[in-house]
Amino acid sequence: FLFHDMSAEVVDSNPYSRLMALQRMGIVQNYERIREFSVAIVGIGGVGSVAAEMLTRCGLGRLLLYDYDKVELANMNRLFFRPEQVGMTKTDAAVQTLSDINPDVVLESYTLNITTVQGFETFMSSLKNKTFCPSKEGSGVDLVLSCVDNYEARMVVNQACNELNQTWMESGVSEDAVSGHIQLLIPGETACFACAPPLVVASGVDERTLKREGVCAASLPTTMGVVAGLLVQNTLKFLLKFGHVSPYLGYSSLKDFFPTMAMKPNPHCSNAACLERQKDYILAKPARDAVA
Ligand code: ATP
Ligand code: ZN
Repeated sequence: FLFHDMSAEVVDSNPYSRLMALQRMGIVQNYERIREFSVAIVGIGGVGSVAAEMLTRCGLGRLLLYDYDKVELANMNRLFFRPEQVGMTKTDAAVQTLSDINPDVVLESYTLNITTVQGFETFMSSLKNKTFCPSKEGSGVDLVLSCVDNYEARMVVNQACNELNQTWMESGVSEDAVSGHIQLLIPGETACFACAPPLVVASGVDERTLKREGVCAASLPTTMGVVAGLLVQNTLKFLLKFGHVSPYLGYSSLKDFFPTMAMKPNPHCSNAACLERQKDYILAKPARDAVA
């Protein structure tokens, strides 16, 4: 029955019909809403570029891409970028490929470092821009995905999202390339990135001594592809409201172990904007209870 049903769809050459089948099969209520959503991806490297491609193929409305780096030959052990794109900025190379794959997606390329004063300002104002969806509440994007590879940049995404009351998802791949994680961060409701500092920071080890100078970190297209897939699957569930959105999902490839957990915000968090959001969340409790 299933096979027959699916072979009938192969006749239809419209890529959207396969996505729309999610609706007919009762997985998603209204798949077409995907065209209304904006997602910002910070870091267009091994995870971020693949996540961008997946969202583009899913027919997302708008993608905002941030990275300061250029495509290098050394990136060819990852997915997405091609040798002829070496020397281009990652954001421009991504726009080139993604607009070919799906010209319907609105693509915005920001070649900048979010940790600089100027970069942070542009990052914030681009997130606030509501021209794409003027009736939307809150910021101009529905979700921010952090796909950077360092602590400092993650703390900056955390700062921006706490200030804007913007839900975001964090992702990471370990230095030995065999494990990774994704995490959902809702300001005031779940732990922010500063609420529960990673073990390395808590133990006072300098990140630069961890990332040894001249010794390159390992990387595997498989692990990065899996983490990007987990991240975008969680993104689709969050945006289209189906299934369970994981607050934290780990991936340990050596034992195929996928730990999950949830973290509450820390009432003593060092981030002032996080404390503000925690206060708002507590004040809004009666309204939440009334709806429930
Ligand atoms: P490697 O570190 O192994 O050489 P990479 O730098 O491409 O590779 P990835 O983990 O594949 O690292 O991707 C992380 C991406 O995040 C990179 O493209 C990097 O330029 C980007 N990134 C990191 N910090 C920032 C920042 N502060 N602002 C903008 N982009 C950033
Ligand atoms: Zn916090």
